[in-house]
Amino acid sequence: MKLIDLHTHSTASDGTLPPAQVAEAAAQAGLAAVALTDHDTTEGLAEFRAAATPGGPELVPGVELSVDRPGGGSMHLVGLWVDPAEPCLAQGLERVQTARVERNPKIVARLQELGVDITLDEVVAAAGGGQVGRPHFAQVLVDKGVVAGPGEAFGRFLKRGAPAYMEKERLTPGQAMELIRGAGGVSVLAHPGLLELHPAVLEQLVKDLKDQGLMGLEAYYSEHNPSQERRLLDMAARLDLVVSGGSDFHGHNKPGIRLGAGQGTLRVPATILTGLKQARDALG
Ligand code: AMP
Ligand code: ZN
Ligand code: FE
Ligand code: FE
Repeated sequence: MKLIDLHTHSTASDGTLPPAQVAEAAAQAGLAAVALTDHDTTEGLAEFRAAATPGGPELVPGVELSVDRPGGGSMHLVGLWVDPAEPCLAQGLERVQTARVERNPKIVARLQELGVDITLDEVVAAAGGGQVGRPHFAQVLVDKGVVAGPGEAFGRFLKRGAPAYMEKERLTPGQAMELIRGAGGVSVLAHPGLLELHPAVLEQLVKDLKDQGLMGLEAYYSEHNPSQERRLLDMAARLDLVVSGGSDFHGHNKPGIRLGAGQGTLRVPATILTGLKQARDALG
């Protein structure tokens, strides 16, 4: 069975491989397709697409947007086949990047209040010129020996509800899906299982999102167990949504997640590309 991976991150956001190396790693893993879906940026896509090789994996330009979750907090939408040159998307991304820039010093200030010796420069350096994300804060905390690993950094400091968690302004789901669609992309609800909603509540949320332009569900995902995967495949069929899937590969920033294989057992069949491309082409 041919396999694909439609959810990955590079150094353009909080992954540790440069975009071209994500493409190369996908070729080495024998994947038929790979999408680069960096958080709130399309900056990596030019380098990514330039890494195409004859007979290599199909390279899908994507993005992952954090949006407001009904009832509070955030959820993620993946856009596949977005055109990074489309001006409205570019403008929307600039806005959410500004929101990150406004949030990051607040996290630093709170960590300092908590007695942690950390500066914004150190975090920006960890991001290496890409979008700064919480995994970069985690990396600095690990490097300094404040915590044993990224999991502890999130648990003690960075996750929602922890003392150094800071809100940032986000797009609404409708705004994000409009940006994705305007740029020629297919909107997919990322890792629905991580929302930890009762199946009926999730289904209502997905229906509401579909009314606002949602086209697909990320049924195949590293952290979905087999029954979640099955339920999401069924839900996609019931609601006439296409199916997507990916690992959420971040290189060393998520050490347990392998490209195309997740925690070792993820299998995203290449056959789902047909439905996704039909959805894309129906956008006209
Ligand atoms: P940000 O977009 O800067 O708020 O960071 C979000 C990213 O942090 C996610 O995409 C994950 O890669 C990572 N993340 C969020 N929560 C956790 C957690 N509890 N443990 C490890 N990584 C996490
Ligand atoms: Zn990430
Ligand atoms: Fe995500
Ligand atoms: Fe992701």
